[in-house]
Amino acid sequence: MTSNDGGATVSREAKVSTRPLPVVHPENQTLYEYLRKGELRLQQCRQCGKCRYPVSPICPACLADEAEWVPVSGRGRLVTAVRVERATGDQWWSTQVPFSVGLVALDEGPQLKAAVSRSDAPFLHPGDQVRLEPEDVGGVILLRLVPDQRD
Ligand SMILES: [Zn+2]
Repeated sequence: MTSNDGGATVSREAKVSTRPLPVVHPENQTLYEYLRKGELRLQQCRQCGKCRYPVSPICPACLADEAEWVPVSGRGRLVTAVRVERATGDQWWSTQVPFSVGLVALDEGPQLKAAVSRSDAPFLHPGDQVRLEPEDVGGVILLRLVPDQRD
């Protein structure tokens, strides 16, 4: 389907039929390289010591530009989650509904969004302890939220 919005033709057709993957570029390449090795590492500011995500050349807390990649636990608490019943946009997501996406506040501070497995989604609630697990998707490692059973 297309529409004409006063001159510009806008396509509303779904264009992607394979799973959309993150774009790996020089700025976030290190994150994906560590994930491929099975490590979750985030940038930690050398000035103030805060971990940050998303990847950034500058610390959002103190604006310093020096950071190192430090291992993080991948554990934290679920801030919120949303269940998607009707997908818009590309075709692949519409084949995946219903699915859930959660926001986790890592023990180290940063917050990350990740998909929640279908079997775990009904049992997760804000405040629950969760952890991020790697998932190989076409050679790119993505993170999935799962319940965390701590001792
Ligand atoms: Zn800083």
